[in-house]
Amino acid sequence: MLLIYCPYCEMDRPEIEFRYAGEAHLVRPKIETASDEEWSEFLYYRSNPKGLHAERWRHASGCGRYFNCLRDTASDKIKATYKAGEPSPLAGTEEKQPSSF
Ligand SMILES: [Zn+2]
Repeated sequence: MLLIYCPYCEMDRPEIEFRYAGEAHLVRPKIETASDEEWSEFLYYRSNPKGLHAERWRHASGCGRYFNCLRDTASDKIKATYKAGEPSPLAGTEEKQPSSF
């Protein structure tokens, strides 16, 4: 069983309490000025890396809050979780950044 650390509850909980909520750190373009290509890119296109990926998760059966997670998609290991709005723990490091940054 995969254990996920909720940064709000500050404890590891079983993965069945959580729901995947898509790619993290997406920036919504202004609809008034976005081209059709920019808008469709935002709505439909996501990175699908093999390796480290920044994701949003929700502690659905716990506190109900959204947070971000750095998960290796090849090994399914979670490197870090952090509160929504906080910078990635990898920001400013020389470690390979996920493509969504
Ligand atoms: Zn929680």
